Parts: sequence; structure tokens; C-alpha cells
Amino acid sequence: MLKFYSTTGPGPVVSLSDAVLNGLAEDGGLYVPVQVPSLSADLLSSLGTLSFQEIAYEVGRTLFDEDIPSMVLATIIKEALYFPVPLVRLAECTYILELFHGPTLSFKDFGARFLARLMSYFSRGTDCERTVLVATSGDTGSAVASGFFNVPGIRVVILYPSGQVSQVQEKQLTTYGGNIIALEVQGSFDDCQRLVKLSFADAELRSQRLLTTANSINVARLLPQSFYYVHGYTGLGTKSAEVVFSVPSGNFGNLTAGLLAKRMGLPVTRLIAATNVNDVVPRYLKTGNFQPRLSQRTCSNAMDVGNPSNFLRLLELCQLDHQRMREDIWGSSHSDLQTEQAIRRAHEQHGYLFDPHGAVGLLGLEDYGRKQSLPRPGVILATAHPSKFPEIIERATGLTPHLPSQLAEVLRKEKKATLLPNDFRQFQDYLHSLKN
Ligand SMILES: *Cc1c(COP(=O)(O)O)cnc(C)c1O
Repeated sequence: MLKFYSTTGPGPVVSLSDAVLNGLAEDGGLYVPVQVPSLSADLLSSLGTLSFQEIAYEVGRTLFDEDIPSMVLATIIKEALYFPVPLVRLAECTYILELFHGPTLSFKDFGARFLARLMSYFSRGTDCERTVLVATSGDTGSAVASGFFNVPGIRVVILYPSGQVSQVQEKQLTTYGGNIIALEVQGSFDDCQRLVKLSFADAELRSQRLLTTANSINVARLLPQSFYYVHGYTGLGTKSAEVVFSVPSGNFGNLTAGLLAKRMGLPVTRLIAATNVNDVVPRYLKTGNFQPRLSQRTCSNAMDVGNPSNFLRLLELCQLDHQRMREDIWGSSHSDLQTEQAIRRAHEQHGYLFDPHGAVGLLGLEDYGRKQSLPRPGVILATAHPSKFPEIIERATGLTPHLPSQLAEVLRKEKKATLLPNDFRQFQDYLHSLKN
């Protein structure tokens, strides 16, 4: 059985079901697995010829052995993770793991779709409606909206920063209707995240509305993301005894999933924390001081996070040891100008079109390669489809990225959102006013 403790203190150890349904621990902390199950060397070496879905099932069996029946796990994977996950070779020793082929074209589809079905499975037999709160800087909200749309017994309230998500992202958040409610907050992403955290600290509101979260503070978002690290590694075939992953990071959920995979025994040399100028984690790695700041706006806006919530989980997985974290994680931060140049360069040299987040991943891997001499296969996690960021792609390359059909359709729909001041009292009132 998986067991979870809270980063905040000596509270009770809980089951996977409680961790998924609570989202955040009662004491406000984040759930961290007490022990991470190991992938046996035999299992790892047997995965080489399997599809992503088959690998997800095998890794899922190891992780959720006694928590989810095999049949249920198989169904969840089939419904949630049905899309392709190609590993593309960019150059000698450099690969791209494309995580953007899901319905909302970002890697967040993995966690959000898996979580929706897991939550629904663990809530079976109760008839109270749960309210999922989610703060988004863009892609989380759309993945959650799509992943939870029409899932019975669950209502989703999405908070997003007004004017700070792209037009496409906004449409993806605000056009579902039904059990998906969009709130346009007059503030930053950090403000949205603060409103969600304050709601969880309000015990009455929390129990009355059965509040839970689908942000990467929910541990069930992270666990399935470990599947594609294993897939990325096995996709390299026999070429590799070890691998480096470059992870474009904001709230550090994706990177935490990579560290979990490493703790499960995946032979990962290093994880690269590739950020834009919101670089509190790379700074921490350098100096040992963790200093959250206000987020700055960049062209890789899904990573504009000034106080990454998963930092505490990373610390726990490193036994609160700065040196240990430096051995596992390498930090690298990049400006918008560098990002745009990287998009242009990758297109000119390799004919490959990165989105701005993936381009930060490329820059992180290049930086690592310059400073660490050993050549190793490096895998860049490409976290979003380039067509979600047409302006910067056009500026960098002169090309208009092809718009996949699911995006073209959403752009024709009408936005439905409620404007909300950046004020907790008003948010509280709003939540109380929702029908049961
Ligand atoms: C959310 C997001 C990120 C950052 O992921 P974290 O898990 O928050 O670090 C990177 N790229 C894209 C496209 C995203 O949507």
C-alpha cells in the first residue's frame, strides 16, 4: 500500500485514496510518499519493446499494487492516456519526448486525466458533489477542464489571472460550461494560488464544499507523470545506461515526478530544472537559499511561478539536504530573448519547431552539456504544442504553426467566465453561493 505523510508535520499517515480526495493535507502541507516502490532491474529491462500504454500499466502496477485493482488501472490508462508519446531524435545524443499530443496539447493532460478518473473511482458510492479548485497559469486549467468535463459528482472551479493567459488558453478554460466554472481573477497566478490555499485553510468551507484540488499539489497528478520518464528512458533502447532529462519547470510538479522515477530506480544521472527568469529553484541550487519572489511575466507563461509549490516535495525527496538535491538536480535559467533565439536555431538547424517552454528545455540541456563534460543521452521534455503560442513562433521563425483541429474548434466557441477581484472574502462568498 502506498502511504503519504504531510510536509508540514507529524500529522497522520494517509492512504492514496485520502491523499487524492483531500488534495492538500489537513494541516496545509503537501503529501509525499513515505516510501517509493522500486522498479526491478528485470522489469526495466523487459520494457524495451512495449508501447507507452503498456509501460504505464507496468509502472502503475508497481506503484499502485494494492491501491487500485489491475482491471481498474487498465481502464483508467486506456481512457486517460490513449494518445501517442513519441520520442524524437533531434541530434546526436539529443532527444525530445513529445508530451503534447493529448486533447489540450500540453503534458498536463497526463496528470489531469488520470487524476479525474482516480478521483471518480475513489468517490464511488458517495453522493455528495465534490468541488475541485484549481489555480492555473494557463495549461493546468484547460487540461483539468477537459479531463473532468462531465465526470459525475465533481464540479470544477478554475481560477486564472485576467489578461495573463493566451487567447487560445483562455478559450480552452472558459468554453466548457456544465460542471466546469471559470473565474477570471484580477491578479497574478500567484494570487490565484493564494486564494486556493486560503480556501483550504478555511475548515468550514472545506468540509461544506468537499473541497479538493487538481493542481500539482495533488499527488495523483504527479504519480502518473513518472510513467513517461520510464518510457523516455526505455525508448533510447540499449544505447544508454543512464540518461539526463531536461524539464521545463514552473511549479515543479513535472520535475518532482522525474525525481520520483529516479527514486524508483530509473537510472537518471541528473534532472535539469530549466526555468525562464523565474529562477528561485536554480538560485536555491546555487546558493542554498530559497527565496520566493513575485512572478515575472515571460513568453513561457506556464512557468511564470514565483513560489513553486512542489519545492517542499523536492526537499523531502532529498532528505532536506541541499547537497543531495544538487547531486540530483541541475538548475539553468533563461531569458525570453534566448528562448526566442533557441526556437529559431532549432528550426534552422534541425527543422524542429519547439514551443517556448520546450525551447527553455533545450537551452537547459545545452547549458548542462557545456558545463558537464560527459556526453550522455539527453531527453528534453517538450511540454506544449507550438501552435498554442503562434505569435512567438511567427516572430522567431516566420512560420505559422499548424493548428490542430481540437484547437480550431475551441476558438470558435464563446467565452463564459465570471470576473473576480483578488480578494479572499469575495471568493469565499462565491463558493458559498454555489448550489449543493
Ligand atoms: C505547467 C507547464 C510547465 C511547468 O510544469 P510544472 O510541473 O509546473 O513545473 C511547463 N510547460 C508547460 C507547457 C506547462 O503547461
